[in-house]
Amino acid sequence: MPAEKLHLWINGRRVQAQSGRTADVYNPATGEVTRQVPLASKADVDAAVAAAKAAYPAWRDTTPLRRARILTRFRELMEAHRQELARLASEEHGKTLADATGSVQRGIEVIEFACGVPHLLKGEHAEDVGRGVDCHSLLQPVGVCAGITPFNFPVMVPLWMFPVAIACGNTFVLKPSEKVPSCSLRMAELFKEAGLPDGVLNVVPGDKEAVDTLLHHPDVGAISFVGSTPVAKYVYETGARNGKRVQALGGAKNHAVVMPDADMEFAADALVGAAYGSAGERCMAISTVVAVGEAGDALLPLLKARAEKIKVGRGDADGIEMGPVISAAHRDRIVSLIDSGVAQGAELALDGRGLQAAGNENGFFVGPTLFDRVKPEMDIYREEIFGPVLIVLRVESYEAAVELINANPYGNGTAIFTSSGHWARCFENEIEVGMVGINVPIPVPMAFFSFGGWKASLFGDLHMHGMEGVYFYTRTKVVTSRWPALAERTGNTLAMPTLG
Ligand code: NAD
Repeated sequence: MPAEKLHLWINGRRVQAQSGRTADVYNPATGEVTRQVPLASKADVDAAVAAAKAAYPAWRDTTPLRRARILTRFRELMEAHRQELARLASEEHGKTLADATGSVQRGIEVIEFACGVPHLLKGEHAEDVGRGVDCHSLLQPVGVCAGITPFNFPVMVPLWMFPVAIACGNTFVLKPSEKVPSCSLRMAELFKEAGLPDGVLNVVPGDKEAVDTLLHHPDVGAISFVGSTPVAKYVYETGARNGKRVQALGGAKNHAVVMPDADMEFAADALVGAAYGSAGERCMAISTVVAVGEAGDALLPLLKARAEKIKVGRGDADGIEMGPVISAAHRDRIVSLIDSGVAQGAELALDGRGLQAAGNENGFFVGPTLFDRVKPEMDIYREEIFGPVLIVLRVESYEAAVELINANPYGNGTAIFTSSGHWARCFENEIEVGMVGINVPIPVPMAFFSFGGWKASLFGDLHMHGMEGVYFYTRTKVVTSRWPALAERTGNTLAMPTLG
């Protein structure tokens, strides 16, 4: 079958790119090219930003209540098309349908949060900050905002951004990953069907040229980014240098501490799901277990027994629990990291190299892999593998586990498995990581809380969605007012005014 040709979405309609460059989109389970996506040029991105800029004044002046009604219709359409979007995500990413459906649901929850925007945009008010003087604050939109998203959540990560930005009165240019462009293009069509005016949401699949155009564009006020740490740092630095507000979420190396007093069967079930779900291609995947004291000996056989039973195959087939990884190049990188783990002396308890998925021999598969007795200086600890590889480090004490995690450059998510409230409370207080689970392996905050890591997992100050998302997409204005007939006339003063 010839590869379907995709398009850009600018000013409420499909447009052909001016750029002649394209990229292949694969079905990672079969290794086949299914679509060709245009890579937006500078001129294409300029056209999208111009459409967003033209749509901004009217959208800004649309009342939050009317914006919320359009978001509510969008939410209903997303519900109605949930399976279609999950199928597209599974086809281009490789994840299982059940997993893709769950991630669509988590994205829809951000739209639900954004539907409350009339309430979320309420500022503060104080009467009589001085005699006859009142003060209130306004949360006003930034203008044209841009989002740059990774391959691993084709629906959910774009939804962390544009519903909140648009609810707040901004217009938006989304640059999805060129590896998984179809879901973003489809969501833009659904949003239009829900009543979104043309130009409020534009989608420009592309690569570095498109990203650089957004980072340098004088009409873009804010940039949200999710992806790997080197690109996040580059986006943050370049955007900030060009006077934009930037939130840039980066990579991760998420540790789970297992204390000797944990329920080991429960912990093993949770860890296997968190490590191998979505073939480990989740920014909140647990990739590292830190086993304290005798926890290691108890846990290892339980992890291995579960991991070796995982059914690997194409994500849309019945009974499959884990799909392929995103590309042949990514599979080869994962395999070379497994090779390095063996060469550097880690104990390979389960080897996923060379796995063939029956009937899909050209797919990009790596089987579940488990390493024991990994040391912090090994590459499999130092690198973000982003694949179905779980490594176990052994330490003597709770304190050593915390020291290890706090010394790691990343700080996205972490978890502790314990039956002791004391250790859980210490961990919550002491750990230098943005999202913490207590007997919860993947502590992804719900939409009404904010999502974001610390250290090399986030460049910028504000996390995504929740109230931090609202603050990112709005500028605060504080108004101090006095009506002279009511106020005491104080005459001229050149001294710093004090109101009290
Ligand atoms: P990536 O950094 O390669 O790409 C992310 C986006 O940046 C894509 O849209 C891509 O087109 C663009 N891009 C890539 N290289 C660029 C360059 N040199 N200059 C400008 N733009 C560039 O990331 P990915 O491989 O798509 O996604 C996987 C990574 O994303 C992992 O590191 C994962 O941990 C991370 N991630 C983090 C979170 C989080 O919340 N912290 C969530 C999901 C994924």
